[in-house]
Amino acid sequence: RMLMTARVCVAAAMSTDYVIPPPPTPSAAIHGTSERFALRRVLCVGRNYAAHAREMGQDPERDPPFFFAKPADSVFDAHPSLGASIVYPPLTENLHHEIELAVAIGIAGRDIPPGQALDHVFGYAPALDLTRRDLQKAAKAKGHPWEFGKAFDRSAPLGAIVPAAQIGHPTRGRVWLEVNGDVRQEGDLSELIWSVAEVIAELSASIALAPGDLILTGTPAGVGPLNPGDTVRAGVEGVGALALGVARD
Ligand code: MN
Repeated sequence: RMLMTARVCVAAAMSTDYVIPPPPTPSAAIHGTSERFALRRVLCVGRNYAAHAREMGQDPERDPPFFFAKPADSVFDAHPSLGASIVYPPLTENLHHEIELAVAIGIAGRDIPPGQALDHVFGYAPALDLTRRDLQKAAKAKGHPWEFGKAFDRSAPLGAIVPAAQIGHPTRGRVWLEVNGDVRQEGDLSELIWSVAEVIAELSASIALAPGDLILTGTPAGVGPLNPGDTVRAGVEGVGALALGVARD
């Protein structure tokens, strides 16, 4: 009887008690099912379309890609039927839209060769990399981290993830964004400087990728400001669309 009591105590000690309840697991909608994709990290490619590199004042040569991150809980559902919105974020007067193809990682890996990289992909979604451009530029000028230009609350609206099992691995398709019905961004997946497979290979040479990682693959030209009252519609042909309103305070 003493031994059994001791075992019960060991079992009880192994269940973790938290001083504060753990936060909810960030997750994303999956097209065609009520099941959700649990999110681990959001990793973003800095410049991956030549025309956008040029508009940011950079030479679009094929330098190695560079990466930054957003917190997983900056992601929220924004597929068009939801009517999702944000309040204009604090400390900026130049909130920018960037439409991007998002890649959801389903299988862990490190040092993944490009030829095997797509085997690690669960699916694809359209995403916005919302950017406080003024904070990003000020940080760049001072040699400070971009962090708060990119990684703020609700900075990653996401459409539903479509499994690669349904659509394959898109290599072409229009990437577009409209503000109040006017086309602002237009490009094509075929213009990616670094392909999805190459991005996965580069990232996984630096950090181990794991299920739940979401990679934003860069934005085409035409980034610009959003203002209170604006309505954004955006998408990636063959993958899906998203919609977002910017609330009037
Ligand atoms: Mn971006």
